[in-house]
Amino acid sequence: MDLWYTEKQTDGFGITAKVKRTLAEEQTDFQRLDMLETNEWGNMLVLDGMVMTTEKDEFVYHEMISHVPLFTHPNPKHVLVVGGGDGGVIREVLKHPSVEKAVLVEIDRRVIETSKQYLPTIAGTLDDPRVEVKVGDGFMHIAESEAAYDVIMVDSTEPVGPAVNLFTKGFYAGISKALKEDGIFVAQSDNPWFKADLIKQVFKDVNEIFPITKLYTANIPTYPSGLWTFTIGSKKYDPLKDATYQDIDTKYYTKSIHEASFALPKFVEDLTK
Ligand code: SAM
Repeated sequence: MDLWYTEKQTDGFGITAKVKRTLAEEQTDFQRLDMLETNEWGNMLVLDGMVMTTEKDEFVYHEMISHVPLFTHPNPKHVLVVGGGDGGVIREVLKHPSVEKAVLVEIDRRVIETSKQYLPTIAGTLDDPRVEVKVGDGFMHIAESEAAYDVIMVDSTEPVGPAVNLFTKGFYAGISKALKEDGIFVAQSDNPWFKADLIKQVFKDVNEIFPITKLYTANIPTYPSGLWTFTIGSKKYDPLKDATYQDIDTKYYTKSIHEASFALPKFVEDLTK
């Protein structure tokens, strides 16, 4: 009998993936964690029933949340990733030779350990000497940080459970404080088909704190609706005017994609008004 994993993305819609076998399943201190070997997408990390990342399409999200801010900043040296326990954002950050230190603050140790075991192509650089992994609450780390980072990326789960505080205006104000005077911040801000209100609220909050605030998108087939957004807040540099590029190894991100990702469909652009 065939086994299928279905993520209910709304009460009335979802996606389903054929599963070869379950590699890991546990209730951690923070969430339900499943690692599935799927026919279509390779190994798939699922937290609280939501697809986090898959071996086949992970590069889109990890490249787009990383290289847009890191090429917008002229010389990013100190970078923070909040969440991101699967290691994919850190892998992309380390492709930038200017980065001297990348700090990862992930609340759930089991996500890191399980990703290292079953997602080696994604989590394989977490032991790099430039990386410092802290197991803890990103909200607290931000509250304790002052003018420490050039770029901060919030690679968190949905605003539920341990991540609920990571989508508040107070958190974004804390991020501004934790950034240097020309720092840049990006958060994954979900999809416009099912989470339009969240995108609108996040953009409004960030826009009230950062002088330059923009929304950009990418196509991520295993995420709800496939159309994903990122909200960027910048103290000085404009991602469409100030970006400078270098040749790095990517599979989705290019200079043209960087620029085009800010061209929004009308119904998405309306969420930024
Ligand atoms: N790319 C995925 C997405 O867009 O939904 C996120 C992947 S990453 C695995 C999300 C991580 O955020 C999880 O490992 C989760 O444990 C972590 N997380 C949630 N709340 C957190 C918090 N308050 N502090 C640090 N990490 C947190």
